[in-house]
Amino acid sequence: MNDSFNLFNLEVTVVGDSATFVCSHKVGHAFRVEGENLIFNDENDRFSFYSLSALLPLLAAKQRKNDRNDWMSSDEYISCPDPHCGAKFKITRDGTRNFSHKDVTKEPIKDERI
Ligand SMILES: [Zn+2]
Repeated sequence: MNDSFNLFNLEVTVVGDSATFVCSHKVGHAFRVEGENLIFNDENDRFSFYSLSALLPLLAAKQRKNDRNDWMSSDEYISCPDPHCGAKFKITRDGTRNFSHKDVTKEPIKDERI
């Protein structure tokens, strides 16, 4: 039985006017999301964990194909959670990666259709 599925790879990039930043963001700093992994381009890249907390709930949804009318399909900018900070984070889909269900969970595939 074919148990494969695809997830989008993501790139999250700091954008905005650095003069408006309160946190330690640097324009252009980025990380990739491939499956469950966050991958930093450079070992010197830093990313605020406060900002990461705002992004985490959205990353799993952005990895998946959404209905074209779903706002999750169109919206790609997330604001820094600090209300005084002007940084935004652009989430870009960048290709897909194929996974096998049996390699990522011990739960069986449910044969349910909703
Ligand atoms: Zn910030």
